[in-house]
Amino acid sequence: MENKKVRVRFAPSPTGHLHIGGARTALFNYLFAKKYKGTFILRIEDTDELRSTKESMNSIFESMRWLGLDWDEGAMDEFNEKGDYGPYIQSKREALGIYKKYSDELIQKGLAYHCYCTPEELEEMRKKAQLEKRPPRYDGRCRHLTKEQIEEYKRQGRKPAVRFKMPEEGHTSWNDLIHGELKFENKLLYDFIMVKASGYPTYNFACVIDDHLMEMSHIIRGDDHISNTPLQINLYKALGWGIPEFAHLSMILGPDGSRLSKRHGATSVGEYRRLGYLSVTIKNYLALLGWSTKDSQQIFEKGELEEKFSLEGCQKNPAIFDPVKLTWMNGEYIRKLSKEELYELALPYMKEANIDLSKSKVDPKDIVFIEQEKYKLLSDIPKLVDFFFKDEIEYDKESVEKVLKKDKVKDILLGIKEVYSSIADFTEKNIEESTRRFAKEKGYKTSEVFHPVRVSVSGRAQGPTLFKMIEYIGKETVISRIDKAVSEAKIV
Ligand code: GLU
Repeated sequence: MENKKVRVRFAPSPTGHLHIGGARTALFNYLFAKKYKGTFILRIEDTDELRSTKESMNSIFESMRWLGLDWDEGAMDEFNEKGDYGPYIQSKREALGIYKKYSDELIQKGLAYHCYCTPEELEEMRKKAQLEKRPPRYDGRCRHLTKEQIEEYKRQGRKPAVRFKMPEEGHTSWNDLIHGELKFENKLLYDFIMVKASGYPTYNFACVIDDHLMEMSHIIRGDDHISNTPLQINLYKALGWGIPEFAHLSMILGPDGSRLSKRHGATSVGEYRRLGYLSVTIKNYLALLGWSTKDSQQIFEKGELEEKFSLEGCQKNPAIFDPVKLTWMNGEYIRKLSKEELYELALPYMKEANIDLSKSKVDPKDIVFIEQEKYKLLSDIPKLVDFFFKDEIEYDKESVEKVLKKDKVKDILLGIKEVYSSIADFTEKNIEESTRRFAKEKGYKTSEVFHPVRVSVSGRAQGPTLFKMIEYIGKETVISRIDKAVSEAKIV
């Protein structure tokens, strides 16, 4: 490996957002390039004219950047690119005639041919094969057309596609870096279309031309492409080109064992971002979908994945996407954030929840930080700290019933209000001391005092550590909330 210059690519088709599977492929290519000090390339495969969109392409760029999967070469956006092997968008390469050159060459050498079959004829062929219980492959009928037949088709106005002439004998095999030796009988392969009647290349054709011209050393992609690989290898051979190494990554299944899909919830990177996952969580979690270290490490520090990743650690069995584990992991990474980092990341979620950050008595950074241990998602943050920023808080009905509507609570709250009013320096320590002293002097259990105080100042029975919370809400607000809790007949 060390002798070979590592060049790998992620080659998405811009027909939708970046999905978990695609992001995993991008990540493994990225990590592989980093590990071997190679080059990571982003190529856009927009040969599906009907389904490719600019929006999808831009969304893929955005998700890749968010995940920190920076590429060394390739399309940087719709218009710009970086690197010496461009263009990196296949439609632009097509416009330059790059693919036509090679399809012409293969036709000339008798290794590819024009196919005039209509979609209806092909459909009929498929049905017939099905009835006869044969694989629904193209039967090669246009391989040996006579001049007259070709003239006739042309006269009918038929536009030909170009098909690859697949060898009928022997087999095609390769040593997959994850699956080991894989072997296909050539008679089970088929004369695939290289260039559509529209003149546009197909995936299998454009991919090989580009992987060769861009000097890829390894092709790392999902194992849904295993069946394409023997077709592509035959194309490399026909063109007399060297064949790169192949590594096919394991399939990703949902928790129920079926292929990961919309049914299992969010599937795109952008959706996870909006839900409040950190990019570091997604990156780390994706790395573990089909790869592991010998000691099954779960949490990685910055730069560790880049160092530890190897194809040898990749498994061929399907990987299970477990949203519960992903969310657990997100909590772990949230806890590693510094106060500043956490606050920065919280900002968009606070904004979305219409929280006015100027409303708190202390630095909002301190408030967001106070519950760091509890957040599993960034979107949890507003829900857990909103009462620090509100003039009017809502009272949780159940907490009111259970905690406030109890004997002695009114006396306790009015007493504690007096106590708090007389604290000159309203700090956590002073609040705690006076609250405890009050309970002791009046003969209450501490919990008899703490619970109603909490509910009356925050509106809920659970929350941050009590005395720090009271300090952060601020003396005036605390007193007015206690008043309100008492006067608004929250208490019997
Ligand atoms: N455009 C193909 C896809 O999105 C790329 C497959 C490959 O990596 O060769 O699946």
